[in-house]
Amino acid sequence: MRGIQEERTDVADDRVNLLGLPRSELEAFVADRLEAKPFRARQLMKWIYRRGACDFAAMTDLAADFRVRLAGVAKISVPEIVTEQRSVDGTRKWMLRMDAVQGIETVFIPEPDRGTLCISSQVGCAMDCSFCATAQQGFNRNLSVAEIVGQVWLAHRELEASARITNIVLMGMGEPLANYRNVVPAMRVFTDDLGYDLSRRRVTLSTSGLVPQMYKLAEECNVALAVSLHAPNDALRNELVPINRKHPIDELLAACWHYIDKQNGRSVTFEYVMLDGINDKPEHARQLARLLRGRPAKLNLIPFNVFPGTRYRRSPAAAILRFRDILNENGVIATIRRTRGDDIDAACGQLAGVVTDRTLVRLGSRLNTVARPSAEV
Ligand code: SAH
Repeated sequence: MRGIQEERTDVADDRVNLLGLPRSELEAFVADRLEAKPFRARQLMKWIYRRGACDFAAMTDLAADFRVRLAGVAKISVPEIVTEQRSVDGTRKWMLRMDAVQGIETVFIPEPDRGTLCISSQVGCAMDCSFCATAQQGFNRNLSVAEIVGQVWLAHRELEASARITNIVLMGMGEPLANYRNVVPAMRVFTDDLGYDLSRRRVTLSTSGLVPQMYKLAEECNVALAVSLHAPNDALRNELVPINRKHPIDELLAACWHYIDKQNGRSVTFEYVMLDGINDKPEHARQLARLLRGRPAKLNLIPFNVFPGTRYRRSPAAAILRFRDILNENGVIATIRRTRGDDIDAACGQLAGVVTDRTLVRLGSRLNTVARPSAEV
């Protein structure tokens, strides 16, 4: 039962939190602790994820004595909602309590043909990207599997019949591949037919470019991959996404093509935030096209979302359209991401939650010892 111990947050309560246990671990748990057959685990999963139960007493198709024994060794413990905000465009944002001080954010984005839930993987983020509000908060800790899956469980409950979660994107607070150990089991629950039963194409992990973990992920879990590129050359990317000083663009792209090879032919979505006067010039678009042309790649241009204290501005609409057109003319599919929920600070890069920074030195400044070429093209 390796891994379960680590999910406990309350030392006085040694019951195992079943929320987020992948099927194989839940089966092992019912066998080891309750001498029950694997189908009991399957019943439990249906109750927890399909019916949104968090109380064993409600699980009426389980024998009464089994429910009592279960309650002695296990629990279904979900995060608590602190606040909810609703945007005029229908986007909903929840702040969830992680402990007495910390809070993380989860966002639901309704569209006519789908419902996307954007979830967080860490309390804060240590990647230190210069244009991201989460980075300004610093980093506190990784979320547990239960805290990651709990965001979906809660959104499911809150949405009731009003909307369905058809897609999950790991694009909230945090760098998911820096919390690999807990993110991968959570994604197994998202795609399990007794969990949230989403196809692998409807679960997207977005990374700033943790290359070794991308290779590992390719072996273990072939969900859709999004990569925060944001610059067409190393000099500029070193400034915007500091992890680039460790894993430069050519290494990152090699990992992307490897991932797609392993997956049988889908494409990587590259995210590119449009920063006025920084990375939005025609020459940047042409450089980008040279990197991505003929590759299994799509480009998603994200108009920069401002937040208090940022030194960047959003590129004008005309610059974004011109950028997209140059890419399309040069054989790269590029689309512009529609901004959603910015009136409640729920748009890309605006999630901040409540984070007590525990990193003494941020990644950007640690990597500053590496020579930094100028950011000019
Ligand atoms: N850490 C992961 C997951 C975050 S996904 C990653 O970097 O991929 C959120 C996306 O929004 C990323 O592409 C991120 O770079 C982008 N983003 C961050 N700040 C932004 C901002 N202020 N405006 C628009 N997009 C932003």
